[in-house]
Amino acid sequence: MKLQNKIAVVTGAASGMGKAISILYAQEGAKVILADFDIDGANAVATEINNNGGTAIAIKTDVSNQSDINNLIDTTISTYGTLDILVNNAGIMDNFMPVEKVTDELWNKIIAVNTTGPMMLIRKSMPIFLEKKKGVIINIASIGGIAGSRAGAAYTTSKYALVGLTKNIGFQYATLGIRCNAIAPGGVNTNIGKTITAPDKFGMERATSGGVNNPRMGEASEIASIALFLASDDSSLVNGAIITADAGWTAY
Ligand code: NAD
Repeated sequence: MKLQNKIAVVTGAASGMGKAISILYAQEGAKVILADFDIDGANAVATEINNNGGTAIAIKTDVSNQSDINNLIDTTISTYGTLDILVNNAGIMDNFMPVEKVTDELWNKIIAVNTTGPMMLIRKSMPIFLEKKKGVIINIASIGGIAGSRAGAAYTTSKYALVGLTKNIGFQYATLGIRCNAIAPGGVNTNIGKTITAPDKFGMERATSGGVNNPRMGEASEIASIALFLASDDSSLVNGAIITADAGWTAY
């Protein structure tokens, strides 16, 4: 097993990629803390893991809330004694809103969940990693963080910022035993479409105009296997990297 007795926090673990990552990590021997504001969904995943011989707990967490983050990491430490792997996966879409229609409310919400949340979680976890001189951080970015128009202005900005944060941390802590990498998925079959509640017609047309070049949709399990590679020592030399997982879409 690749993650025997490792302690892993996964955000957005009730659904999609976070769920797939949590299940795979548990199968590989990790004890997994499932953080999601959908606590019923997270509890269901925890039950599934525990019923199949793994170890998991669910903690209700809004990643944009600092006190929820403090509770998440403090409970992880009081329950399992340490933290080895942090996966910043929770994220939401922005209704493809073009910049002229971005409200302050939308902007602040997308940045809070997709960018500030990961930063706050890394900030809270870093002292634990520094003390151990070991730690792995995996951020789920997006090809929206390396290409200009796969979503609206706020989502695109939030994921570009997450890519920058990943590289900054990857380099700054590289000699201290800590690695920080990101995965940039293309289109993946999950429930994220539920966060597209009122898509802007113009913005969506512009953002999806290149969809014809997408070779295929991915599955959450395909992202999970990359997250396993990045969490394990198999990727010991990989740091500050953004691994694109889009079937070749952005290669066009
Ligand atoms: P999903 O909607 O299936 O799962 C996301 C989970 O995050 C849900 O369980 C949701 O409850 C949780 N969540 C949302 N906001 C939260 C918050 N504030 N605090 C705690 N939990 C919260 O979506 P997914 O596609 O699995 O998304 C995972 C990540 O992948 C996101 O960061 C998303 O931006 C990114 N991504 C998705 C795609 C895609 O095509 N699905 C492509 C590129 C990147």
